[in-house]
Amino acid sequence: MTTDRAAALATLVSGVVRPEIRALSAYPVAKAQGMIKLDAMENPFPLPEAVRAKIAAAAAAVPVNRYPDGSADAVKSALRRSLDLPDTAGLILGNGSDELIAIVTVALAKPGSVMLAPEPSFVMYRMNALYAGMRFVGVPLAPGFALDTDAMLAAIERHRPALIFLAYPNNPTGNLFSASDIERILVAAPGLVVVDEAYYAYADSSFLPRVAEFPNLLVLRTVSKIGMAGLRLGYAVAAPEWTAELDKVRQPYNLNALTQAVAPVLLAESALLAEQAAVLRSERTRLGRALAGMAGTTVFPTQTNFVLVRVTDAPRVFEALRAAGILVKNLHGWHPLLEHCLRITVGTPAENDVLLATLARLT
Ligand code: PMP
Repeated sequence: MTTDRAAALATLVSGVVRPEIRALSAYPVAKAQGMIKLDAMENPFPLPEAVRAKIAAAAAAVPVNRYPDGSADAVKSALRRSLDLPDTAGLILGNGSDELIAIVTVALAKPGSVMLAPEPSFVMYRMNALYAGMRFVGVPLAPGFALDTDAMLAAIERHRPALIFLAYPNNPTGNLFSASDIERILVAAPGLVVVDEAYYAYADSSFLPRVAEFPNLLVLRTVSKIGMAGLRLGYAVAAPEWTAELDKVRQPYNLNALTQAVAPVLLAESALLAEQAAVLRSERTRLGRALAGMAGTTVFPTQTNFVLVRVTDAPRVFEALRAAGILVKNLHGWHPLLEHCLRITVGTPAENDVLLATLARLT
């Protein structure tokens, strides 16, 4: 009987899957076919035909019957070139920076160890602590989303975290924490501090040039927000003593052959990438000003390619936008500091026009 089989399976699954995993729901990725997609911090610009042709040629030459280069040397050299990294800096690549968050967490998750991060921040930090069996300690941000440095330092003293995550700039709030607050945390931390610079292309400051200065600093980055989200490529820079250990946790072929072939082609298009980032920065300013001019909205400072805005009724505005074919992220209910907040990714100028016109009709 199928019901007997279903009951037996339910018993089997619940008997062996960890209860904290059963209590989760899988990360929701909204379907966005045919919509204006302003929910995931992607770069909205399609690539020029000439660049597509280069990608096609690079992909066509890949021997997909073979495993990829396990150390992804072509991507590493392209990154070292484009970042001007010294040879002494350790570099590790991931299938998105998501995978590197998992790798770092698994490597440091001694029984009883603690991961610490401010909240609200990127939700995958907490999730990975749970997957790896680390205890997660969240320290609320101050009103206005600055780091509550005294509370962070007190929590460091009390919990002695093996791992601290700081998103710089922060997602979903968009702001850049004070560099001197981060320095104090780096000095006080007894373990590794990951400064996650997913949005570096849209920010005015970076800790990447300071990796040699702090022995416990790992700077995490991704190419997802600069036009290559589909490639799934993240990287981390830290002292080679760290990356050598992390490399042992990395799956041997974590970076697929097509990504390894295509990423260097796109990384070489530095002028194009910089021009797109510049347009998005200026669109961000335009969007922020227009949103701030609407009745009942509060726009928060941002150094990312998204704008966090508080409206009077976020669920209503979210649904009305969705009905109009525009997908944004509704953060209402995520954290008390995010009450009635929407996170809106900066789109193309035309997409932003449609968004603003639609919002103007709603209010
Ligand atoms: N860190 C932060 C702060 C992010 O916002 C994101 C994506 N939303 C990531 C890491 C993961 O990016 P990816 O896996 O695409 O590299």
